[in-house]
Amino acid sequence: MINIKYDLKTIEQKRAFIKLKLFEKSANIKTENFNKISEKDLYILYELYDEVFLNNWFKKNFKGIIIFKLSKQLTRAAGNTRTKKNIDKIVPKDIEFEVKISLNHLMNFNKVDRTKYVGGIEAGSMLDSLMLVFEHELCHVIEFLVCFKSSCKKKPFKDLILNLFGQSESTHELISVKEVNLNKYGLKPGDSVKFLYDGKYINGFIQRINKRATVMCLDNSGNYIDKSGRHYRKYYVSLEFLMKI
Ligand SMILES: [Zn+2]
Repeated sequence: MINIKYDLKTIEQKRAFIKLKLFEKSANIKTENFNKISEKDLYILYELYDEVFLNNWFKKNFKGIIIFKLSKQLTRAAGNTRTKKNIDKIVPKDIEFEVKISLNHLMNFNKVDRTKYVGGIEAGSMLDSLMLVFEHELCHVIEFLVCFKSSCKKKPFKDLILNLFGQSESTHELISVKEVNLNKYGLKPGDSVKFLYDGKYINGFIQRINKRATVMCLDNSGNYIDKSGRHYRKYYVSLEFLMKI
């Protein structure tokens, strides 16, 4: 796809170099675990990656634009790359990408103490995590430009990201909002809980957990009916208001 292949040691050195340059250029990111980041930082990373890993492949070949965004909406995915479906018919200078990086995954990174991986590589810090996710999305952009389509489940992508960045998996094991919540409150789906509602305690069980818990409570006028014909009403409750019973 693009004829570049590095060994793992070189990749590590290049990442370390990018980190140093990023600390210099970024107004926000000065350490591995930062508490401020802006979309500008993603543009800085893009230029650094192009220079350090890609021999200015983008600068030389790419005439379109990439819009980088930090997303609060992305929850399961750590990043996302989109472009128009008919990219093969668009004149090069009009080609546009939107690359989103999930803020949740960065902000939650240190909230649970376990080993995290992105693309099969251990991420030891927020910056590692950001860069590994960024590399994945960058490979999507390259594949779109060369092949007019891109799938990280398929071989061409897998070869590309392995050769360029040593990533051997297309998935991540970062910390989701859900895991943070489970960790903090010790609650999981299926648990029986109670909570105060209009001055009274209501009992129920946790159906699922996202940012809040969905709690199903027996209620004759509820709209949800289980296999035994019992009626439930659904409540959304912040985890801090739930008590295990
Ligand atoms: Zn992907």
